Amino acid sequence: MTKNEQIFWNRILELAQSQLKQATYEFFVLDAYLIKVENNVAIIHLDKMKELFWEKNLKPVILTAGFEVFNAEISVEYTFDKTTQSTPDSVEEQDTNYSVPVSTTPLPAIKSDLNPKYRFDNFIQGKGNQWAFAAALAVANDPGGIYNPFFIWGGPGLGKTHILNAIGNTVLENTPSARVKYITTENFINQFITHIRLKDMDSLKEEFRNLDVLLIDDIQFLAKQSMSGTQEEFFNTFDALYKAGKQIVLTSDRTPDQLNDLEKRLVTRFGWGLIQDITPPDFETRVAILEDKIQDYPYIFPADTISYLAGQFNSNVRELEGALKDISLVANFKQVNTITVDIAAEAIRARKQDSPKMTVIPIEVIQSQVGKFYGVTVKEIKATKRTQNIVLARQVAMFLTREMTDNSLPKIGKEFGGRDHSTVLHAYNKIKNMIAQDDSLRIEIDTIRNKIK
Ligand code: ADP
Ligand code: MG
Repeated sequence: MTKNEQIFWNRILELAQSQLKQATYEFFVLDAYLIKVENNVAIIHLDKMKELFWEKNLKPVILTAGFEVFNAEISVEYTFDKTTQSTPDSVEEQDTNYSVPVSTTPLPAIKSDLNPKYRFDNFIQGKGNQWAFAAALAVANDPGGIYNPFFIWGGPGLGKTHILNAIGNTVLENTPSARVKYITTENFINQFITHIRLKDMDSLKEEFRNLDVLLIDDIQFLAKQSMSGTQEEFFNTFDALYKAGKQIVLTSDRTPDQLNDLEKRLVTRFGWGLIQDITPPDFETRVAILEDKIQDYPYIFPADTISYLAGQFNSNVRELEGALKDISLVANFKQVNTITVDIAAEAIRARKQDSPKMTVIPIEVIQSQVGKFYGVTVKEIKATKRTQNIVLARQVAMFLTREMTDNSLPKIGKEFGGRDHSTVLHAYNKIKNMIAQDDSLRIEIDTIRNKIK
């Protein structure tokens, strides 16, 4: 490597480290290396599975370093080892000396209850889930490490259960003897109640407190259990595992703070490690997800059909999957090979009608929730005053109304104090662009969105 190449690469590492969370940096960046810079192209060696992450997150860093060192616009190409072409291989490979702290005394075998279908390599990364994905990978490769507990939250059908299982499957691939357990909160509660009835709490305690990795899904259901002692039991399990350095991963449809009926001490503990949200996939990601999923079907999906479908379901990947199943039934029935937009539209008609996304959320509800969040009244939102926080609240409310309801732009304008439809569109685009650049605003809006739902 020339001296300049060395400086260039060091600068990339430095900038990347300053912009990424430490574990993300370690996982995605540390084992990459620069091969050379030739004709203003930097050739960087990576694990294949990390390419998308680099492509999406580190291009600006490479550009900056390129201008600083070579005073030129440096583009990038990635190279990969043949053996690291697929995700499962590369996950195994880069972790040869890793091991879960496995219990030494022989314990009865446990059923992990993992779904083998849910893996990292069939999870499509995009804007809304890339951080959760990166953190989950880090956890899977270093359970009980710095992200403990790891708390993932977000709306329905966005891949929380998928990621949770992918963590467990990866841990078991790395360390087959690890004691990994996936359980829904509902099932945890049921087991608790059954064991109480059978006066057999000890076996339950033994099973849970001897785990290496506990993956618990939909923890929001624990909130309603304040009377039955399940929260107490969960608390004790949590503490026992945490103290022993065992990994706990939880999912929820809301943040820990919003788990209203949950004991404070649990809420506090959920925040000890990393809290990461998943937000709905953007259009590009929905297309990528569809392109991946249609490979399971024997039909041809032209590009316009894919765009059409990606446009129809924008807040729930489960709905996208369901749409493909509907289409497959219709295509089979009609004996066609190619799914035209018309066939797709016909097949999903029923689903669109009872799609929960478009159930009518009154605009007033959106206005009042947004207002509450920003300390602004609904009246102010509808009026014309242009104080900074009122303007923001107004635009966020219009944005959410456009996203969460079926109302036309003119109708939305009317409900916001008789504004023109172009004003609504302007507000929508403005907030959309702001979210793309400002994570804290995005999280604010997700929080409000979750309150409205
Ligand atoms: P949640 O637990 O958040 O409600 P799930 O994990 O059950 O959502 O996801 C719903 C369905 O969508 C699952 O079949 C899952 O595999 C799929 N899915 C969600 N997000 C993605 C993604 N980014 N890539 C591929 N499949 C996804
Ligand atoms: Mg789920």
